[in-house]
Amino acid sequence: MTKYDYDLFVIGGGSGGVRAGRMAALAGARVALAEEWRMGGTCVIRGCIPKKLLVYASQFSENVKDAAGYGWDFGDASFDWPTLIANKDREIARLEGLYKANVEKSGVTIFQDRAVFEDEHTLLLLNSQQKVTAEKILIATGNRPTREMGTSRVIPGGELCITSDEAFHLEKLPGRILIAGGGYIALEFAHIFHGLGSHVSLVYRGEKPLRGFDDCMRDALCDSMTSRGLDVLLGCEFTKIEKHGNCLRAETNKGDVIECDQILLAIGRQPNTMALHVEKAGVELGKRGEVKVDAYSRTSAPHIYAVGDVTDRIQLTPVAIHEAMCFVETAFKNNPTRPDHSHVASAVFTTPELACVGLTETRALGEGHSIDVYKSTFRPLLHTLGGRPVRTLMKLIVDAKTDKVLGCHIFGDHAAEIIQIVAVTIKLGATKKDFDATIALHPTAAEELVTMRTKSYSRAPGDAPA
Ligand code: NDP
Repeated sequence: MTKYDYDLFVIGGGSGGVRAGRMAALAGARVALAEEWRMGGTCVIRGCIPKKLLVYASQFSENVKDAAGYGWDFGDASFDWPTLIANKDREIARLEGLYKANVEKSGVTIFQDRAVFEDEHTLLLLNSQQKVTAEKILIATGNRPTREMGTSRVIPGGELCITSDEAFHLEKLPGRILIAGGGYIALEFAHIFHGLGSHVSLVYRGEKPLRGFDDCMRDALCDSMTSRGLDVLLGCEFTKIEKHGNCLRAETNKGDVIECDQILLAIGRQPNTMALHVEKAGVELGKRGEVKVDAYSRTSAPHIYAVGDVTDRIQLTPVAIHEAMCFVETAFKNNPTRPDHSHVASAVFTTPELACVGLTETRALGEGHSIDVYKSTFRPLLHTLGGRPVRTLMKLIVDAKTDKVLGCHIFGDHAAEIIQIVAVTIKLGATKKDFDATIALHPTAAEELVTMRTKSYSRAPGDAPA
């Protein structure tokens, strides 16, 4: 009989923590989980799910325009933000309830409380001041939007800005919104607000948004945003933000003064390790405050593990869930299992979507591959009658020596749905010949991936861009 209250104590009720807690309990462990706020974490409560609902909402405005070419006339369309937010909140509450019920059904004890370390096996629950002990502990506390633009660049007036957390609960749709950042969240919210009718300006410090994504896709996205009427300000940063009456006024390094109703900071997220007192348990943190883990998600304290965004590996829900499953195999099923972080597909839910799996052209060359590149750009069938000048871009990067498909990148409608299945083929090591041998499904956009016969160009490491 163990001397501890629980075999496993999970800190955090998000995707990673919930999956780990449930699976460990189903494997026979005595498990408790502390969540200080709402069960479901970032993904369910203030991330992927509510975001996707807002994305759907934002796309009806374009669908209505497209419908005119097909003979439909919906009269004067109108949109009501409070209705959307109320319906979204109802659905999120329903999902939260399901999450909680599933955790309880698996036998996990839930503490609605904030847990902090007292020592290496003891946690203090702050609200109840109760102490609990556990043989193993899992840190799954996730991350949160940062408001810090770097120590040397604290923006006067930065506290007047919102983050994605607040964007889900605004009382009214902003007429004009400035969005700072060039990553997933900035771009997704830029398209959401634009589709719902706000005037959107994206302020990004770099040369083009989505650093790390394939350059062709980044260019296509920038062109698409500009042609849709979003303002894209590149090489641009705020120097000062002030409130004037009901309006915010932002000054930039380029000398622009922009007036707006809201400013959304989407400049990255920081791991939730503040005030967790991990030092009392001998858990080391990295430079950004992330929990340092080995290949098995084990921290510097051998009985304490961490999964998900708090480890700052790949910040995606399915990755956190995978890490949680591997943790349970390792820690409770005597089957040491390393999470596999290769070939993880991802999508930015802009309109249209940008999705990818595998290597970018730059990365493939950097890793020493000589490559053949197949590219196709076309007007999707929907838009022939719809009339808007929308184009889809698809790109396959193929290893010139082995014929293996190293990467697939799509900017276009349903890109995320297509990429999910392409990821299976790449994971299996598919070659370009396998793609060519697959008979097209017509008429679809995805058929383009198996009908690209002529290579667009070849490149070897060190070659100039094509
Ligand atoms: P990202 O890391 O994707 O983007 C952060 C952006 O902020 C970058 O463009 C970065 O610029 C910019 N930035 C960073 N610091 C500063 C600064 N001091 N001043 C100005 N700009 C700055 O973070 P997000 O918060 O958008 O998303 C976090 C993570 O969550 C993502 O990486 C992703 O893994 C996940 N996520 C996934 C989604 C999905 O799957 N669809 C949706 C939303 C989030 P630079 O590039 O120059 O560094």
